[in-house]
Amino acid sequence: MPTLQIASYDVAIDLTGGPGTFWSRTEVHFACEPGMSAAADVLARNIGHAALNGADLQGAAATDGGLQLDTVVGDNTLIVEAEFAYARPGGVGLIRETGSEGCACVYSKANRGGAPRIFCCFDQPDLRAPFTLSVRAPIEWPCLANAPVAARNCGKTTALWTFATTRPIAPYVFSMCAGLSAGPRYACRHRDGSPLAVTAHALPPAVGLLDAALSAELFQQPLQYYEHTLGARYPDDKYDVAFLPQYGPGLAFGAPGLLTTRDEVVNLTDKPEAYLAIVIAHELAHAWFGGLIEFQPPENEWLQEAITTYVSRSALEAHHPHINPWSAQASQTLPDHAYAKNAAPLKRLETLIGRQAVMHGIGELLRHHANRAVTKDDLAHSWFLASGQDLREWTTNQLIPAPPDEA
Ligand SMILES: [Zn+2]
Repeated sequence: MPTLQIASYDVAIDLTGGPGTFWSRTEVHFACEPGMSAAADVLARNIGHAALNGADLQGAAATDGGLQLDTVVGDNTLIVEAEFAYARPGGVGLIRETGSEGCACVYSKANRGGAPRIFCCFDQPDLRAPFTLSVRAPIEWPCLANAPVAARNCGKTTALWTFATTRPIAPYVFSMCAGLSAGPRYACRHRDGSPLAVTAHALPPAVGLLDAALSAELFQQPLQYYEHTLGARYPDDKYDVAFLPQYGPGLAFGAPGLLTTRDEVVNLTDKPEAYLAIVIAHELAHAWFGGLIEFQPPENEWLQEAITTYVSRSALEAHHPHINPWSAQASQTLPDHAYAKNAAPLKRLETLIGRQAVMHGIGELLRHHANRAVTKDDLAHSWFLASGQDLREWTTNQLIPAPPDEA
């Protein structure tokens, strides 16, 4: 089946319009094959302007979020300027929230269909493209996104932030925040000794708690463990962690270069040991699983969480040997417990081929399919290369999602 090829996204977001709505302008370049129809995803309050290949899409209205496009064979350019409503807490899209000291911030939840509520896109996990983002925000709002800041140009009351172009990413892992204060910054190191800047951010008063709750080791240890055991370098140029008010319903989202999570996770008084370590290790692992590769077709998406949980718990085990994250008792107190059953077949595979071969196989997959969608067959082939064993039958029979818990 022919698929669209997305060449690039240029997204400009304007947050200066007040507390109810914001605007974005998207310019997307994409290629179509003969006989292909295309629909872009946009869930806007009001589409101000839409044009395909220079021709106005007169009275463009997205039906159920789909903007039907009369594309041409070859290269196409779609431009959509639209006004969007901020989502309510718990929703998806851009969320505008106020902390307990009255400071406002904006953060994205693009996952689970949120990206078309922020900008026009082709919202499929396997349609990746480089993103170049700019954000106009009130002058007192620092901005963060997947890629490092490339420039900041200040006017009297607003500032325009421009970010470096990302590697090819899917719209659902687009991530940005505005209005947070920078907290502690850690000079972490890759396995080869080169530096990786890790910075934590939050609103006051939570930003004041970050120093006590966090440490360089929380990032450094899983980073080095993954780079060593998988043989695949962390794929982004920096790592920001945003601790956010009213974040949910999920606990956290590990997008490339920017982890967003609840600000309550730094309140350690009511949490078991290693809770924060596993939140960070798990979300950092998504830089590779979800960030670098994507399991397809959709019925294999559960493998993303299964592998993320397997490698992050293995990192925890290596650095906190007194906690056995696979024991029923320890697992229950960990924030990734919901995925433990799905990670169990990977743990069982260790008895067949050894942990090193399990990890090498996953690393093989990352190196050969970087920035692409992968299948279960690709995984079986990678484990074959790592272990010499034909695991196609095992993969078919054993690598299946666990049934949900009975209520
Ligand atoms: Zn996860």
